[in-house]
Amino acid sequence: MRPIMVAGNWKMHGLSADAQHLTQSILDAGLEPTVPEVVLFPPFTLLHTVSQVAKGTALRWGGQNLFWENQGAYTGEISGSMLRDMGCRYVLVGHSERRQLFGETDAVVLRKAQAALHTGLIPVICVGETGDERQEGKTNAVLRRQIEALTPVLEHQGGGHQPHLVLAYEPVWAIGTGLTATPEQAEEAHAFIRSLVAEHTPALAKKLLILYGGSVKANNAAALFAAEDIDGGLVGGASLQAGEFIQICRAA
Ligand code: PGA
Repeated sequence: MRPIMVAGNWKMHGLSADAQHLTQSILDAGLEPTVPEVVLFPPFTLLHTVSQVAKGTALRWGGQNLFWENQGAYTGEISGSMLRDMGCRYVLVGHSERRQLFGETDAVVLRKAQAALHTGLIPVICVGETGDERQEGKTNAVLRRQIEALTPVLEHQGGGHQPHLVLAYEPVWAIGTGLTATPEQAEEAHAFIRSLVAEHTPALAKKLLILYGGSVKANNAAALFAAEDIDGGLVGGASLQAGEFIQICRAA
């Protein structure tokens, strides 16, 4: 039995007062006994606020991105050790917005995942096909390419403990569009991703958390999370509304 995780990706939203309110509301909902892991991904500027409100609780937080060097002349970048310094346990890697808008290739995603692991962060690595790729029947080929590019990090995760790495299947056509993958479509992709991981590291495949992301809402979360290979959600828009996000966590 794998634990369930619900993560909120705030993207580029929120000021300090919002972060304070949202984090406190989630804590006040008293979710801790029912959901093993709730993780918030605020913008870098709000990590301190979230950490101040959530420290000492079961709530976790992480960065939305990192650079692979630890420090140096990289204007505008944030390193894994800086995220650790903010109390982060997790970091998003290879979100489709990073891949599409900021040119992150599979090789860059691998490098960032390696840097995250190196600094003791758990990377939540996002994969998924675009709408065109799905229509052209290329979904599995795209997922295979994205997962195989991660082989160097997957290979090191076969040990006895819970893996220090999480995958998120996020079909690009479902992100922020209100078009959610059906539980059947999502389960098919998740099972395929798990089978790809099993080709390399069978021991990892059974334990690996694979989150679903793409227009997860309170009214579709339970059906998605009930699928065998879906181990929780990576929630964008709906994670900015405390009530909606709490309901999604309760569905897990
Ligand atoms: P969405 O975003 O829930 O707003 O579709 C998901 C994500 O980008 O992680």
